[in-house]
This record gives sequence, structure tokens and C-alpha cells, in this order.
Amino acid sequence: MTQRVVLATRNAGKVAELRRILADAGLDLELVGADAFAALPDVAETGTTFAANALLKARAVAAHTNLPSVADDSGLCVDALNGMPGILSARWAGRHGDDDANLDLLLAQLAEVPDERRGAHFFCSAAVAMPPGPHGAAGECRVVEGQVDGSLLHQRRGTGGFGYDPIFVPYGSARTTAEMDAAEKDAISHRGQAFRALVPVLRELLGG
Ligand code: IMP
Repeated sequence: MTQRVVLATRNAGKVAELRRILADAGLDLELVGADAFAALPDVAETGTTFAANALLKARAVAAHTNLPSVADDSGLCVDALNGMPGILSARWAGRHGDDDANLDLLLAQLAEVPDERRGAHFFCSAAVAMPPGPHGAAGECRVVEGQVDGSLLHQRRGTGGFGYDPIFVPYGSARTTAEMDAAEKDAISHRGQAFRALVPVLRELLGG
């Protein structure tokens, strides 16, 4: 029987991306999103690193569903801000998920920062957690990561992607990640790299 694996997200785009990567790698796994489970608890992201938050989510979902679970946590780390917004990327302007306000605030904070000091990277940690064993024994967990380096524009360019994409230009590219199509961005992105790094880990833990 095909092994089911949960990706701890309600973002259908992320589920589709990981599903494509697993299929391309020939892994015989059925990937389902958090939406497949009615009562999945929302997990507070109380960790201080991307890896800790990814692990918190993967462990909680594995415990709840009794299935191997994957979770990712990502964000933008800006050199001139000592790596912030980092794990606070989604709520930088104070309200979770307000991409426009987050981007406006970041642009204002960097208004005086010259081009040569506008380096930044997107970072993603992806965690796999096996369900807990008998008597509450912790299931095996692994974390992999991905990173894409680039620099930040002074103004938005492009309408694709989400979050900070309209100002992020990966090194080696003339375009922002908001000016790339999804496949092009997935090929270089922090999340694409982390998801591809999951393939050998899932193969080792689950076979297939
Ligand atoms: P999440 O961990 O995927 O939910 O990402 C957290 C936050 O980081 C998002 O709300 C965005 O602000 C930012 N972020 C993560 N990945 C990307 C990306 O690929 N492009 C733009 N912003 C991103």
C-alpha cells in the first residue's frame, strides 16, 4: 500500500510543489496537505530558528495524524538588518501574512542602504517527523535546508510570487523572483532546494 505522508501546510501551492518533486524522484508516496484533516491543531511557531519551527510543526502533525509528516519554515534574512526579518518574515509589520505591509516596512527600513549593502537571502528549513512510538517514544526526525542569495531592490518589480519576491533579485539573475514563472522560481528557490533535499531522507526513512 502506498505510504501516506502529510505536509503540514494549508498552502495548496506548497503541496503541489512537493508532490511534483516526489513524483519526479520516483518516490511512491501519497502526499496530503493539512486540509485533509479536519481537526488539525494550529501549531504556535515559538522556536527561535527556522529549523526549530519546522520541527515543532512536523512533530505536532505526526503526533496528531500518526503519519510521517513534513513541515517547512522559511523567511527572508537581510544582511543590513543582521538577518532580520528572519523567522519574523510573515509578521514583520505586526499582522501575520500582510505581505504588502511587510514589504512597505522593509523598504522604508532600507531606504538609506546603498546597493552594495543590500544583500539578503531566503532560507528554508524542512523537517520530517515520524509518528511517535509506543509509550510516547519520540519518532525519528530530520531537518534539511535550502538557501538562495541575492540583493534587494528599492522598489517592487513583477507581479508573480508572494511576500518579498517583488524586491528580491537572486545573484546571477536580472529579474526579481516576482518576474519569474513558478517553475523557474522553484528551480532556484530556498524551498525548492529544501524540498529536493528531502527526497533521500524520505527514501531512507520510508523506503519507496
Ligand atoms: P512560510 O514559512 O513559507 O510561511 O514563509 C514565511 C514568510 O517568509 C512569508 O510570509 C513571506 O513573507 C516570507 N517568504 C518565505 N518564502 C518566500 C518566498 O519564496 N518569496 C517571498 N517571500 C517569502
